[in-house]
Amino acid sequence: MFIYKFIARTRKTHKRLNAVLVKCPLIPEGFCLNLFGTLWAKDPSWIDEKTVNHERIHDAQQRELLFIPFYILYIIEWLYRLTIHRDSRKAYYAISFEREAYANGHDLSYLRRRRHYSWTKYLK
Ligand SMILES: [Zn+2]
Repeated sequence: MFIYKFIARTRKTHKRLNAVLVKCPLIPEGFCLNLFGTLWAKDPSWIDEKTVNHERIHDAQQRELLFIPFYILYIIEWLYRLTIHRDSRKAYYAISFEREAYANGHDLSYLRRRRHYSWTKYLK
C-alpha cells in the first residue's frame, strides 16, 4: 500500500513527452529507472525526448520478454558483464538491452522500424 500511495502522490503524466514520470528520492541523481513503462528519477526535470526514446526501446524489450523475464535477464547479463569488466558502469553499458537503447535512442523513428528481439544483435 505504501508503494501504491507513493506512486499515486509523486507520479505525473508529462504531456509533451507522453510519459509517466515518478519523482523518487532513492534513485541516484542523473539516473532514470524504467519500471513497467513508468520512468523513475530523483528529479525528472532533466528527462528529455532522447531519454524517453531510450526508455521506449526498453519498453519494447520488456513487452517482448513479458516484463519479469526482462528484469531477470537484465540482472543476469549485468552480473555476467561485471565478471568480465570488473567495473559496474562498464558492465551496465555492455548489457545488450542498453547497447541497443544507447545505439538507437537518438533516432526518434527507430521504434517504428525496429524488429522484435533486436537486442539479441547486441549480445556478443
Ligand atoms: Zn537504458
